[in-house]
Amino acid sequence: MEAKTVEGWPRGNATRVLLTDTDAAQVNAIRRALIADVPKLAINRVDFSQGVNQDNKGEVLESVNVLPDEILAHRLAMIPIPTFPEEGIHFSDACPNCIDLAEESKGCPSCQVLYSLSARGPTSDAEEDYKTVYAGDLTTISDQMFDIRDEHKRIPLTILSKGQFLEFS
Ligand SMILES: [Zn+2]
Repeated sequence: MEAKTVEGWPRGNATRVLLTDTDAAQVNAIRRALIADVPKLAINRVDFSQGVNQDNKGEVLESVNVLPDEILAHRLAMIPIPTFPEEGIHFSDACPNCIDLAEESKGCPSCQVLYSLSARGPTSDAEEDYKTVYAGDLTTISDQMFDIRDEHKRIPLTILSKGQFLEFS
């Protein structure tokens, strides 16, 4: 097999490689290795706030939206998270700080990145009936370098109607 980077690439986070003298099985093996073996961060735990809140104008907001929590959690897991392998982030099950901790206590700055999101639907006097929540609404509690990249900020997560809120970390 021969591999050659196509002229003009890479651009930003994308590249094109021309493979010659190969077959579909070999190329598919590379595709699978890229998916499985390239270290990358993804959201794998989310705590949703549940309940009924009241804002400072007395408006009542409920923690519901059009999507079940499981679906939302899956959507969160699909968001590309900026990954810097050279920064020495550990897998949580191999983190030197957390290796001896119980499962629910695992997680420290060397093995996790924290995000939070707090959004609400339009106020009762607003013209629009709903508001879309995007990946860009996630806030990094950890280092700013983990902020969702501009090109991924418009990934829609769910919509909120009046009287609905969404909050998780
Ligand atoms: Zn850790």
